[in-house]
Amino acid sequence: MILGIDLGTTNSLAAVWRNGKVELIPNHFGEYLTPSAVGLSDEGELIVGKLAKERLITHPQSTQSRFKRFMGTQKKLRLGDKEYLAEELSSFVLRKLIEDAESYLGETVEEIVVSVPAYFNDEQRAATKVAGQLAGVKIDRIINEPSAAALALHRKRQEDATYLIIDFGGGTLDISIVDAFLNVIEIVTVAGDNHLGGEDFTQAIVDDFYSAWPTVRADISAEESAQLYQEAEKVKQTLDKEETASFRLMVGKEWFSYHLTQERFLAISKPLLNRIQKPIRRALRDAELTVEDVDDVILVGGNTKMPLIQNYLSYLLKRSVRIEVNQDQAIALGCGVLTGIKARNEDIKDMVLTDICPFTLGIEIVGDVMSPILERNAVLPSSKVGTYYTTQLGQTEIKLTILQGEEYRASNNIRLGTLDVQVPLNHKEYESVDVRFSYDINGILEVDVIVNSTGATYQKVFLRDNKQLSQEEIAERREHLASLKSHPKDQEVVQLLLSRGQRLFSDSTGNDRDFLTGCIRHYEEILETQDLRKIKKGTELFKRQLDAVEERIWGGGNGF
Ligand code: ADP
Ligand code: MG
Repeated sequence: MILGIDLGTTNSLAAVWRNGKVELIPNHFGEYLTPSAVGLSDEGELIVGKLAKERLITHPQSTQSRFKRFMGTQKKLRLGDKEYLAEELSSFVLRKLIEDAESYLGETVEEIVVSVPAYFNDEQRAATKVAGQLAGVKIDRIINEPSAAALALHRKRQEDATYLIIDFGGGTLDISIVDAFLNVIEIVTVAGDNHLGGEDFTQAIVDDFYSAWPTVRADISAEESAQLYQEAEKVKQTLDKEETASFRLMVGKEWFSYHLTQERFLAISKPLLNRIQKPIRRALRDAELTVEDVDDVILVGGNTKMPLIQNYLSYLLKRSVRIEVNQDQAIALGCGVLTGIKARNEDIKDMVLTDICPFTLGIEIVGDVMSPILERNAVLPSSKVGTYYTTQLGQTEIKLTILQGEEYRASNNIRLGTLDVQVPLNHKEYESVDVRFSYDINGILEVDVIVNSTGATYQKVFLRDNKQLSQEEIAERREHLASLKSHPKDQEVVQLLLSRGQRLFSDSTGNDRDFLTGCIRHYEEILETQDLRKIKKGTELFKRQLDAVEERIWGGGNGF
């Protein structure tokens, strides 16, 4: 049997396709949500789920949660005196869901379908597969969370639509534009904030408690602090329905009371709410859509259960938002639908899911600049060509450096590798090469180069690889930063404009990027002259150019 699993940062759920419909599977407590928490008992036994979540308070040293954030990294997470990787802890959660499902269904699970955030890179996806292997099953398919949510919805609505999916979970805000048409579910764009989620709202309440009782912060124990966090979480959820909420907390031998009103909660949440619009704008902008163009705004993730968030979103988007499927369950239901598709279940065998590349791939060009070839959000598999020229007459070798990322500065992006290309000696003209990037659904990048004058070809295959920086690379970058200091460049206005230019480069695509590259180049040349009058004029021009691009990107005005 194939089981669908939403392996969340905070909570995980399982679903299966049975008797022509998708079904959520309760765990042995009879609940659909299993907290993604893992711990060791005093006897050294493994505890997973609700019990482990409880023990976060009493045994913080031997319990872990929210480890999904570290998937694909080598970070060691401690359980008592043992250390584990995130993929190992995740495998415990998967195992638990599988065992509960097996005893509920009375069947053996051989394979699972697991959802991951659309922006997960290959290391994170590979780590998720490893977690499955460690749990003793095969993960045949990894589905992007927004695709899963759209799949669940599409099953219900049965009509073509473009969705803006706002998935606001425990630790992340994930925005996606998803098209569902003619049985194809296609992610058009993704954007997000990896450091914004329900936990931040809970933390805001914790911080508000401390500002009411400033001395407590110094005296509080780890256990009491975990207790405080849990109280804050309860208060937050109480405000879903009530006007006010309160709790009392014992620290040392003293009681401290705390009271929160809706109004105060809104006030302390403002800085967090303000961060929601940027990724939404970016996802819409990349899709070349306005918020009116999408058929439905769909809310998923536990954090969207807060009326505060729902109200803020309808205010921000100036339209109603829909909660069609239970926010906690949408993704798991989608995973369950996919298991039906995988098992070639008659009812739904025709659905197709496409995938996108969540980041830009390109090459380095002169001056430490990133030249994008395949832009982020390209539908996979995808293939694009860029033409590049030698920079000097008589040059016989071109060294291509392959990059991944959204930064203007080549050195601020991830370097995937290099490819050396020989071109004929030519003192009359600049030689050109066509560089083709082909990127497939498995994260394999094929780079094909044709030397245009001779027709000679080169090919190299890259697997994306997000290695940590070496000591040398760090030293190199620091030196690179230090070298900026002596120029008039480091006057604040100039610096600010340059970083604004680079930020706009990150936020834009296509023609805007080409234009920005030209503008930044030109401005840097002016700065090199160190001629103050020229710099003054150039600065004004550069500012106007950036304003124009910004206007084009964000449409200037307020709202959407
Ligand atoms: P993830 O996808 O990260 O596993 P979820 O979608 O399960 O997370 O969302 C978890 C977050 O939702 C937590 O921060 C939790 O505080 C919040 N949450 C869950 N239910 C509610 C509720 N009824 N009211 C307010 N917040 C909630
Ligand atoms: Mg989630």
